[in-house]
Amino acid sequence: STSIALYIQSRRKERQLAHFDARPIELRSDDILDGVTGLIGNTPLIRINSLSDALGVEILGKAEFLNPGGSVKDRVALRMIQDAEKAGLLRPYTGSRIFEGTVGSTGISIATIARARGYEATIIMPDDVAEEKVKALHALGAEVERVRPASIVDKKQYVNLARRRATEFGRADHVDGVVDDNSSHLLESSASIVVSTQAAHVETSPDDVEGNQEILSKPRGFFADQFENKSNFYAHYDGTGPEIWRQTNGDIDAFVTGAGTGGTIAGIGQYIKSINEDVKVILVDPEGSGLYNKVKFGVMYDRKEAEGTKRRHQVDTVVEGIGINRLTNNIELAIPIIDDAFRITDAEAVSMSRYLVRHDGLFLGSSSACNLVACIKLIGTMGWQEGQKIVTILCDSGTRHYSKFWYASSPTLLRSSSDTQQER
Ligand code: PMP
Repeated sequence: STSIALYIQSRRKERQLAHFDARPIELRSDDILDGVTGLIGNTPLIRINSLSDALGVEILGKAEFLNPGGSVKDRVALRMIQDAEKAGLLRPYTGSRIFEGTVGSTGISIATIARARGYEATIIMPDDVAEEKVKALHALGAEVERVRPASIVDKKQYVNLARRRATEFGRADHVDGVVDDNSSHLLESSASIVVSTQAAHVETSPDDVEGNQEILSKPRGFFADQFENKSNFYAHYDGTGPEIWRQTNGDIDAFVTGAGTGGTIAGIGQYIKSINEDVKVILVDPEGSGLYNKVKFGVMYDRKEAEGTKRRHQVDTVVEGIGINRLTNNIELAIPIIDDAFRITDAEAVSMSRYLVRHDGLFLGSSSACNLVACIKLIGTMGWQEGQKIVTILCDSGTRHYSKFWYASSPTLLRSSSDTQQER
């Protein structure tokens, strides 16, 4: 970690780079978009100038922090809601409520789109998540319930609780005297129905939905279930992946990103591999997550690790949004196509984030910083030629991470910011 800034600086020196080229600033005009959801996706791909110049490999970041809800999860929230509407599980302006368990970004995306589409939102999140995310959710009018961080086997774990709250919402409807077998069946099994929304999307004709007018007009609780819901995967397989391919003309050598639900790496990775198997797909994993071991050794935890390492929910890390200790539907779709993995420490992520502000004016969140640390680690492991390209995801901006990642007075942060001072 001490070495991130110094390492980049030494590579710049080796490459005899004295200063950056000054690039002309261009203005462009956009077409008129259809409300807030029109702003989702089609994000630019930007060259990370400081790192690309220093290392001689093009490092390109997909600027997902430009989505209106502030993160890559806008794409997923939109697709989950669209697919649920198509499958007849949600209908706007019926008093229906979307429930989700999230560390924050997905909640903010759901709350944003819910407002634009005529839904209410209830977001369940662990109580150690950065406070600014809770404030954003409240500002968007979402109901927020915070729970102690817990393992997935615990009924009060945030995802389990979100599922239960969605079911309870349906039951309240039932108590009101509306006896509706069809609808309670949908509610109780919403997770499994939604898991197959891609199929539902194809198989459900508008006539089926029209035929259920009465059911559809009732308030409904919908558990979005980003971890298991394959609409998450398809948001990236049909959206982000093709965008990256177009933006690079398919000239990519590696795709590097972390996994929270796994939707991003699975969707983009699978799309890219479906066209060119030679592109490397690289997983980025923070401390306390089991995915690194799953990729490297085929198990989430070997016995030694399980004894020596705390589980993700017990690890006091400043990185939010990536890392998990269980295999979700979306992670399962990613595992077969991941070529390698890197484990990134908090100190490395902190150090990188400060470096990017100082040298690129890029103010990014913790998972984006992890992604960029992994890019330079990847460049260190194999023989790269000048001009080869690595694409990664700039998941969200630093504004979501003030309290935990930027201004927390933890020893990790203090140590890392003094490292970057030295390099001035
Ligand atoms: N970065 C941030 C800031 C996130 O909120 C998330 C989603 N939890 C991710 C990265 C990881 O994305 P995915 O869920 O698609 O694996």
